[in-house]
Amino acid sequence: MKATIMYGAGDVRVENVPDARIQERTDALISITHACICGSDLWPYKKMEHDDAGRSMGHELIGVVEAVGADVRKVKRGDLVVAPFAFSDGTCVFCREGIHTSCVHGGFFGMNGIGGAQAEAVRVPQADGTLVVLPVGKDDKLMPSLLTLSDVMGTGHHAAVSAKAGPGKTVAVVGDGAVGLCGVIAARRLGAEQIIMMGRHPDRIALAKEFGATDIVSERAEEAVERVRELTHGLGVHSVLECVGLEESTLTALSVTRPGGSVGRVGVPQRGSIPEAQPSFYNNVTIAGGPAPVRAYIEEILPDVLEGTIEPGRVFDRVTKIDGVPDGYRAMNEREAIKVMIKF
Ligand SMILES: [Zn+2]
Repeated sequence: MKATIMYGAGDVRVENVPDARIQERTDALISITHACICGSDLWPYKKMEHDDAGRSMGHELIGVVEAVGADVRKVKRGDLVVAPFAFSDGTCVFCREGIHTSCVHGGFFGMNGIGGAQAEAVRVPQADGTLVVLPVGKDDKLMPSLLTLSDVMGTGHHAAVSAKAGPGKTVAVVGDGAVGLCGVIAARRLGAEQIIMMGRHPDRIALAKEFGATDIVSERAEEAVERVRELTHGLGVHSVLECVGLEESTLTALSVTRPGGSVGRVGVPQRGSIPEAQPSFYNNVTIAGGPAPVRAYIEEILPDVLEGTIEPGRVFDRVTKIDGVPDGYRAMNEREAIKVMIKF
């Protein structure tokens, strides 16, 4: 089967690899119909040191169940399913507490010997806990939005929940990638009053406004912080969604948070420490967030997607076949595309 392997920064190849197959009694084998390239895939694309063995890429997928292991009960051959980027059993103490990314039997696609999802097929461990059956056909027009339940919509929602966005709250979103844009959808969906998108790219700003952003701040660094203060009567915002992970973006996030406010971090931190320890301490700022337990959110968000209340699939502005994946990475890295969908 064809799969996407990264060998180092800028070196992504689509290659023939051994077919995915059932290995454990709790596995499902999925023939992938839709996958995509994630902003987090761009970190290794920018920085990965050369590795002869390569890394299997991709962690967002919708597909058809081809086979299941002997212990799988909740999905069957022929089901169309969406998988979150982390697999989980759904039954352990952390899953029951809604932190599926910390599942004691869990893990991530494309890591520790589990194949990636930018491939024709994938083995899904813990199939009963991981997979959610979709009540539509694989050619349904909602497919792009359903695919975002695999990661970016759930991750934007996690940023908003971690930042305690809600009715009457002021919100700032740091990062105008797919997650930041989904964060705007999530903040609006949770009832936020004012949603400030911090970004510059005209297409992304336009989409953010359609998703519910009330204000746009296109300045950088200290000027951006000043501008957010102006928009919030000098107070700063209640809830900040940090959707990048760089030191500068984290600093901006902490600097625009009002006393008593919260920062929901979903951008993978690229540095070992969090800046501005003293101001955030004296301002009683809550710093929360982490890898989104998107499995916990699928049932909650799915009805809104099916009803068309939210359209997170609009973050996909390019579609490719698997052979076009390397160019998809290039396009996203050069910010020519927001997010690239792979159709099989
Ligand atoms: Zn678990």
